[in-house]
Amino acid sequence: MASQLPAQTFTASPSVDISTVQRDKLSVSKLWEIQWPVPQGTPTNDGFGVQPAGVRSSVHVGIDFTPGSGTPVHAVSYGTVLEAGWDDEYGWYVLIQHDVDHQDVKTLYAHMQASPSVSRGETLTRGAVLGYVGSTGLSTGAHLHFEVRINDVPIEPLSWLRAHL
Ligand SMILES: [Zn+2]
Repeated sequence: MASQLPAQTFTASPSVDISTVQRDKLSVSKLWEIQWPVPQGTPTNDGFGVQPAGVRSSVHVGIDFTPGSGTPVHAVSYGTVLEAGWDDEYGWYVLIQHDVDHQDVKTLYAHMQASPSVSRGETLTRGAVLGYVGSTGLSTGAHLHFEVRINDVPIEPLSWLRAHL
């Protein structure tokens, strides 16, 4: 009789749940993948924590890459655009929200040569082109000013990149 079927007949198999978890882990790990914002090996000038001559009065909270004017700038990881627009200091810039290792990570890309290629609220895949290296805002030459903030505190970006690449 149908009403006498054993209860376990209707219980989801544990193996189904486990495979679902494994798939989720795989897709999440891809979301964490990190890449360089400009070609690997690009020289840098002003480093984190230094006080650059001239343009800034405060301690440098990022790193300056000098790949040359017009070089594409890439999102270092999957994320959501928090800000994309103009700032008198940053020039044309983009701020992205990421979730890396369950941490609140934000990356900022500044001094791009024109209005960003992405819009606020847009979800980006790793490597998405944000714009092109320029010298807008408070800048004395074409470079990418790049910041990494964890829980909104700027950290040394090169160490963070190398630790996650
Ligand atoms: Zn800078």
